[in-house]
Amino acid sequence: MMWQSSSFSENVNPESIIICFYLCWSKIYFYNYVVVKDLRLNKIMAKLEVLHYPDKRLHLVAKPILQIDDEIKSLVADMAQTMYEENGIGLAATQINIQKRVFIADHSADDEPKNLLVFINPEILSHSGEVISEEGCLSVPGIYEKVSRAEKIVCRYQDLDAKTHENEYNGLMSVCIQHEIDHLNGKVFVEYLSGLKQNFIKKKMKKIFKPV
Ligand SMILES: [Zn+2]
Repeated sequence: MMWQSSSFSENVNPESIIICFYLCWSKIYFYNYVVVKDLRLNKIMAKLEVLHYPDKRLHLVAKPILQIDDEIKSLVADMAQTMYEENGIGLAATQINIQKRVFIADHSADDEPKNLLVFINPEILSHSGEVISEEGCLSVPGIYEKVSRAEKIVCRYQDLDAKTHENEYNGLMSVCIQHEIDHLNGKVFVEYLSGLKQNFIKKKMKKIFKPV
C-alpha cells in the first residue's frame, strides 16, 4: 500500500484525522514490531520485483504458512527491503509473486525509527462502520483512488515468533490491513472501482510496464 497525504481528506473530520495519526504513531502499534536486525539472519537483504497490475499473478490466492522458520524470516527481510526501497507503507507476499499468507507494514514517519509490523496468516474476525479513503498500491504506481472499507476491524494473526495476536484496529492501520489481506486473496484495490476506471488504469499500466 502507498500513502498519500490527501488520504482520508473527505468524509472524515479533522478530529478523526488527528485521532488516526495519534493511533498510528502511538504505542499500540509497537507491541509486535520487528526491526530487521532482530530477525537475526546472516543474509544480505534483497530487493524483489514487485508485480504490476493487471499481472494475472496478482490474482493468485496465497496459502497459509504452516511453519514460521528461517525461510519465512528471510522472505520477510526481503519484503521489508523491497517495501522501504519502493517507499511503500505495506507489502503483501502476493505482490512479489510468493503465494504465502504474510504481509508487512510500516507507518512510521520519515523522522521516526523504522517500525516494521509483520502479519502472518492474518484474518479479519469482525468489522464495523465504513470509511472512504484514498488508497495507493506499489502494484499500481501513480494511481490513487477512493475506496470504501470497514472503519474498524478485529484482526487475528501470528508474529515471527509464531505467537498469535488478536487486536482491534481503526484509521489507517485498519484500511492497510484490509488492503493487504485483499492482496493475499488475489484482489487489487482498483477492482473496487467501476469497470470504466479499471480499463483506464489497465491501459495506463500497460503503457508503462510490459504486458504479461
Ligand atoms: Zn497494494
